[in-house]
Amino acid sequence: MSRKLFYNLRIQAAEGGVRLSFYKSTPLFLSGSENGQPPMIRIYRKEEPAFSFNEDYGEYFDGLSPEQAEILFEGAMDAGNGRKYTYVDSLAKVGSTYAYWVSSDRGDPPVGPAAVRVRDAEIWWPQQEIDRRMERLSAMYPQLVTLKSFGRSVRGADIRGLLVGNAARRAAFIGLIHPGESGPELIIPAVERLLRDNGDELAHAGLAILPAVSTDERERLVHGHPGYLRTNGSGVDINRNFPAEWEETDYSYGLDTSDPDAITYRGPRPCSEPETRAVISFIHEAKPRCVFSFHCLASICGPAFFASKYARNDQAFSERSLPLLAAYTKGFYGLEDRPVRMSYACSSGSLPAWLYKELDVPGFDLEWEGEERSRITHTDKTTRELLRDYQDRHYQGMLSVLRELRERCEFD
Ligand SMILES: [Zn+2]
Repeated sequence: MSRKLFYNLRIQAAEGGVRLSFYKSTPLFLSGSENGQPPMIRIYRKEEPAFSFNEDYGEYFDGLSPEQAEILFEGAMDAGNGRKYTYVDSLAKVGSTYAYWVSSDRGDPPVGPAAVRVRDAEIWWPQQEIDRRMERLSAMYPQLVTLKSFGRSVRGADIRGLLVGNAARRAAFIGLIHPGESGPELIIPAVERLLRDNGDELAHAGLAILPAVSTDERERLVHGHPGYLRTNGSGVDINRNFPAEWEETDYSYGLDTSDPDAITYRGPRPCSEPETRAVISFIHEAKPRCVFSFHCLASICGPAFFASKYARNDQAFSERSLPLLAAYTKGFYGLEDRPVRMSYACSSGSLPAWLYKELDVPGFDLEWEGEERSRITHTDKTTRELLRDYQDRHYQGMLSVLRELRERCEFD
């Protein structure tokens, strides 16, 4: 078998298309051009419509061959510094998943596949967009909004949040504890609208938001990583890394939290991850009366509230929690009369477990509420229309929680 003439094939979905880069491998780089002729490079692309987010993973692409692929490009290319090639596929479609390969006319085996899923930047916001919106709010409402850094991610990204309005009665909203799930696209528009339309409320009850905790791996999804991602950049599940019965192994989803290969790995020790520590310093600073942490999938979650399993038989906890959850549910559904959905499902090492055990603060993961119309989020088919509807509903839920906090704290 002849040598592969290229290596380090990288791929990124970005504005305007899919960007490929790859390098001449050592033999090609050292031999230079053959008979004075540069190699003719071929770039192959194959759409993979069968790939399904959260049902298929990276292994889907293993062993795929370019046999039925289309040739996107064929010809000589200029190499940067004599070695690096780049190519932009501007015909890639949003919502599609593709595999790419590269080879030349020298009979070398193709390099690849490199896989990418092209996502809608209106549904999966890049970190830049999150930063831009939070900075704008702190500039527009300097009396009401404080933008603050609470730590850095494994790869050094700033994990920032906003403290908004009344500091004595705050509700906290946290996003992207799990990178493939939800947060900024629901939380930030709600805060924007609250400041614009109902700023008076914020004198009586306030908010604290930390919309993008696992920002590193979220960015990989924004830039086209095809499958679901759950852990941070070090392979740790942040929702198992909190110091709340951390050493108690949890076996949810057929996985084992002590197993470093599992996507629910709890980490080498409690609070080992900078993202976990950022959430903790955010909570210590915000001192919220209640905490809502957004989960489910592909930028959408519903009002199904998961509390710490340790709170199961605690009457006082449910008495304190239910009015808040009833307020959220009522706001979310408006005139429809819906029951509160609450279960004691959050495991050892989770944020709700830590809030309950260490701070005695009601904290909840928000999960899928079982509506058929939002089932599409499970396979990354969230539409702009569905997102707009959920943005509106979470805004109403948030407003309703603030009003509940105002009333219940009247006599504090
Ligand atoms: Zn989750």
